[in-house]
Amino acid sequence: MQIKPLTTIIAATSSFLIAMLLPDIIWAKQQATTTGSTAITTNTNNQIANNKDNQFEVIKISSVLAKNINTTQQKLKELELKTFDLSVPKRFQGKTVQNITLKNKQKVIALTFDDGPWNKTTEKILDILKKHNIKATFFVLGQRLNKQKEIGKKIVEEGHVIGNHTWNHPAQKNKMNQDRIESEIGQTGKLIYQITGKTTKLFRPPGGFLENGLADYAKERKDTVVLWSTDSKDWYDKSAQEITKKVLSKSRNGGIVLLHDGGGPRDHVVEALPNIINGLKQQDYEFVTIPELLTIKDRELHQEELAKQRKK
Ligand SMILES: [Zn+2]
Repeated sequence: MQIKPLTTIIAATSSFLIAMLLPDIIWAKQQATTTGSTAITTNTNNQIANNKDNQFEVIKISSVLAKNINTTQQKLKELELKTFDLSVPKRFQGKTVQNITLKNKQKVIALTFDDGPWNKTTEKILDILKKHNIKATFFVLGQRLNKQKEIGKKIVEEGHVIGNHTWNHPAQKNKMNQDRIESEIGQTGKLIYQITGKTTKLFRPPGGFLENGLADYAKERKDTVVLWSTDSKDWYDKSAQEITKKVLSKSRNGGIVLLHDGGGPRDHVVEALPNIINGLKQQDYEFVTIPELLTIKDRELHQEELAKQRKK
């Protein structure tokens, strides 16, 4: 799945906005012209009354325009939000990210959930996140999403970011067949788009294996390969206390936390999540999605580059 170039999106948006505005502007103009010509043909004795009419029309036109400008601004804001949540800054496109370090005073951390959508577990996790007003990133499997379309839709509808984690979860070190690689990523990306309307540019390789060809193909597509800095080991350790301890002791500014909503019974993750969230809040963390995290890092790097240029 190719993402549309930004220019196409802008062009499409502009024509959409113009198309939306035009009928009202034309209507307002017609109203003004009609009133104007009536004013000329009507008895001049009525000039004062007509002037008043014209003034009224002018007010009417301005209110129509004002209303449209408001709607336009609203639409642009919505569009900006829509594109922001899945867009990755250029410097991270086609790259692998793992250890993001931030100097920002406000500490941020990204919770990520893999191997879903999973019946019941994912929705319980969504409810906890909603209660705490936290947005996370979900790396879904195509075969799971195909079975749990509604949950997949819900992930996006509730404001979370969705990423590609292949179709079948081939967690292997050895090089894979190219057709298989392309269908693992391509089919999943297509399904994500069909179900959520989102084109994801985030890819997480199963098991974190970078040598089997999946990550290389994702990078060729200019996807960002997202690893993690904190492994909760929830796939191995079934104790909610242990995984909470692991995440809290290994958290740091700019961290990416690996958790699982799918791939097996994850009741211990559901049990641990409120404690993980509260513990991180006590450490003054704010929760961000992967694109948000990368945007914050991008801004920091940009500031550093500017400072360097000034010194030269
Ligand atoms: Zn996985």
